[in-house]
Amino acid sequence: MNILITAGPTHEAIDPVRFIGNRSSGKMGYAIAEAAIGQGHRVTLISGPVSLVPPARAETVRVTSAEDMLEAVRKHLPDCDTLIMVAAVSDWRPKQASPVKLKKSQMSEFLELERTPDILADVAPLKGERLYVGFAAETGDLRSEAHRKLKEKHLDCIVANDVSHPEWGMQSDYNKVILMSADGTEQALPVLPKPDVAQRIVEWIEAYRGVCTHGA
Ligand code: C5P
Repeated sequence: MNILITAGPTHEAIDPVRFIGNRSSGKMGYAIAEAAIGQGHRVTLISGPVSLVPPARAETVRVTSAEDMLEAVRKHLPDCDTLIMVAAVSDWRPKQASPVKLKKSQMSEFLELERTPDILADVAPLKGERLYVGFAAETGDLRSEAHRKLKEKHLDCIVANDVSHPEWGMQSDYNKVILMSADGTEQALPVLPKPDVAQRIVEWIEAYRGVCTHGA
């Protein structure tokens, strides 16, 4: 498969030194890229700002904002048959970024927010035969929220990611997920190191696609 993976957070500039972002470390997306390469797939990795070293055999594109990420996804999607949106895209951005550092006193009057583009919604018309996989990082009712996003975002599969516990999920080396497919099948994994979760996700996508990588 030719797999496009997004990873990490996005940073939405407020001024030259401040941004809106989130705690995503990029570890899950990078681990999926590594596992996919290990299985013989070609990987393009679109990475938000993280401090990780990308897999040597991935074509890596570094981006900062949701807008940059959208542009990179649009550019690389035509060459890919699978999109895995692992990135924790910032939901909001300042309406405008100040070119100069704002004074503390200016912040509240300057900061007006607007929604960032929804990347999956934007590329939905390009889906065709492509497999679209999303992530749902939730602290509440994991299964029903993930199921809602699977339907709303017209995904083939979603990784329901429990981020309610400090020992796994965002920033941790461990994760706890439920793999849910549009055909109604589900697989709940125990808490595992992220590389093991990544391997299971890649194998699950291969099985969904009906791909056999033995000897690839
Ligand atoms: O943020 P949310 O839980 O809605 O994310 C669900 C999925 O949608 C994730 O796969 C995420 O990468 C993707 N997403 C997106 N564009 C956004 C926000 C999220 O494609 N602006």
